[in-house]
Amino acid sequence: MKIGILGGGQLGRMLIQSALKYDDEFYTLDPASDAPCHNISYFTQGNFNDYETVLNFGKDKDVVTIEIEHVNADALAELEKQGIRVVPNANIIKTIQQKILQKEFYKAHNIPSPEFQVVWNSDEKIIMPLPFVQKMNTGGYDGKGVQVIKTEDDFQNLWKEASVIENMVDIDKELSVIVARNEKGETNTFPVTEMVADPKLNLLDFNVCPVLLTEDVQEQIDAITEKFLNAVNSPGLFAIELFLDKEGKIWVNETAPRLHNSGHQTQEGNTNSQFEQMYRVVKNLPLADTDAITYSGMLNLVGAEGYSGKVVYEGMEDVLKLPETYVHLYGKTETKPGRKMGHINVLADCREELMEKLVKVKGMIRVISE
Ligand code: ADP
Repeated sequence: MKIGILGGGQLGRMLIQSALKYDDEFYTLDPASDAPCHNISYFTQGNFNDYETVLNFGKDKDVVTIEIEHVNADALAELEKQGIRVVPNANIIKTIQQKILQKEFYKAHNIPSPEFQVVWNSDEKIIMPLPFVQKMNTGGYDGKGVQVIKTEDDFQNLWKEASVIENMVDIDKELSVIVARNEKGETNTFPVTEMVADPKLNLLDFNVCPVLLTEDVQEQIDAITEKFLNAVNSPGLFAIELFLDKEGKIWVNETAPRLHNSGHQTQEGNTNSQFEQMYRVVKNLPLADTDAITYSGMLNLVGAEGYSGKVVYEGMEDVLKLPETYVHLYGKTETKPGRKMGHINVLADCREELMEKLVKVKGMIRVISE
């Protein structure tokens, strides 16, 4: 089968890596000539935001999917009309692409997400009480496009473009749950993962899975995943990012309609990975079992501050000597500060041991340049 992926980044690369054991042809589209998928798939250099480019790329494929949501969804809708399978549907991609539509989707389906106000332009009166979080309607990614407004003085920093203004949650833990649905409507949910953030870079730091949750919290999450999977009405793999607040209530932060950084440790930590599951969804096959085999964690290999150029992984040989430690690099030759270059998965028998190992590995390795 000819499988087309919009985006040629690390998520696509790991999907292809995992699916190479089956018999398909992978095609990718990315603006960067050296994108992580460029030398492991039939690669087209081009803009996945451009209508004609996406249409041309998709028209001779059996199925088209995404590894990034900022793509031309109108072109995907046209491909659907022409009878090409698009996973997930153009419609749900369009909804999730825009924070305003995404928030309205949660509201319409009774999925708990922080109270919000839509702000279309800078003249609008703000009625949300301080402090609040402003999120750009489009264009936000990896923590960019999100800012906290604490005081009236901060009002001058408000972005002028269309955005969502959201109640600030008193966060105890940030969690993620990856769910899948195939065309038949069969569903599967991965065990919940905790995302421990790096306050400086705002890029995900450690993932820890599974998380010990009270029965009540687990029930809230189960109810959310069920409502979500019914509401999307599309085959796909989705990462639902959640906040657990200090009072024990779960809120949906946002959803990604694709493979997600919070699921990387499933490569070695679960009976099947998010990549295997995504492949099953794309091909409309029976969904895979996804139980956690043991405790697993992940740390991102992110370009260190102050280094740009040809990448060097300082300390890698020592890391490779550690048991139950798995290195995944994304085929990016150039590092720059904050760039995601790879990740390391670690397995352990309990959470304490896992955290110790993650902290140790993090201290052993640095992503620098020659
Ligand atoms: P991105 O998609 O860019 O990662 P998020 O919406 O996930 O943006 O926001 C980035 C971070 O900002 C979150 O991980 C969380 O720590 C914080 N944040 C976002 N929304 C809220 C909120 N309503 N209340 C408190 N913190 C928030």
